[in-house]
Amino acid sequence: MSLPMVVPEPGLPARVTIYEVGPRDGLQNEKSAVPTAVKEEFVRRLLAAGLPVVEATSFVHPDWVPQLADAADLMQRLGETGRDLPVLVPNERGLDRALALGLRHVAVFGSATETFAQRNLNRSHDAQFAMFAPTVHRARDAGLDVRAYLSMCFGDPWEGAVPLEQVVATGRRLLDLGASQLSLGDTIGVATAGHVTALVEAFAAAGVGSDLLALHFHDTYGQALSNVQAGLRAGITTYDASAGGLGGCPYAHSATGNLATEDLVWLLTGLGIEHGVDLTSLVATSSWMAGHLGRPSPSATVRALDPAQSPG
Ligand code: MG
Repeated sequence: MSLPMVVPEPGLPARVTIYEVGPRDGLQNEKSAVPTAVKEEFVRRLLAAGLPVVEATSFVHPDWVPQLADAADLMQRLGETGRDLPVLVPNERGLDRALALGLRHVAVFGSATETFAQRNLNRSHDAQFAMFAPTVHRARDAGLDVRAYLSMCFGDPWEGAVPLEQVVATGRRLLDLGASQLSLGDTIGVATAGHVTALVEAFAAAGVGSDLLALHFHDTYGQALSNVQAGLRAGITTYDASAGGLGGCPYAHSATGNLATEDLVWLLTGLGIEHGVDLTSLVATSSWMAGHLGRPSPSATVRALDPAQSPG
């Protein structure tokens, strides 16, 4: 069986946008350098498989993420196709690089917690906005679309539980700066379904509708699809996912990090929700990428559909 039987659940969205993060979020933690030509082919194959949005890379300082030091080269190789693909820009220097290449979609990356802001952004939770404000304003003035990621929305490895009000307040500040979409990240994969429902409801109560939100789940504890289901019931129509489940969790001893795009496609297909992705092409792409990385995909769906990816 290469596709599930379609049995819709009443009340769910008719269509969902899958925001593919494999080339950026998936590859950024890879230790051995992936050749730029392989990254280019990866992006092109993901687009050909029908993924509507593929975040291609990050214009982070190469010392921080050596794997993505070829960001400008990759975007040049992608040419006109690349102009419509989002890239992460951590600050104004990153934005300058994106603007120089004529890119049209950028994303910034914030933290819901104090400790992760200190560790990942090297500044306090409050001071992160002083970095984002000129980045977002200049991008908007140049006609670019800006997405905002918010990490540690469901738990923080140093602080533990993260209050809903703190996540909502931080997210609102990012939207108020001018971001068009807020992606709520479960960076360590600890969220469970009721928590997802409660957070989406807390945003709604603060005047942030489901149309402004995306959900970014990690499968570290096997909860990602359950959390997507909660998101669908709450009306969320954008989900981040990584082809083949690329990108382990840097904060847990787990090979499983990002929700695998194939697993998400299997769920959406079974629910009769439109997504536009060809699962066979996507699995072939992830298997091909797994070959380049030298280890099988952690995605359950990739392993079920491609015997070569199964550990046996
Ligand atoms: Mg992720």
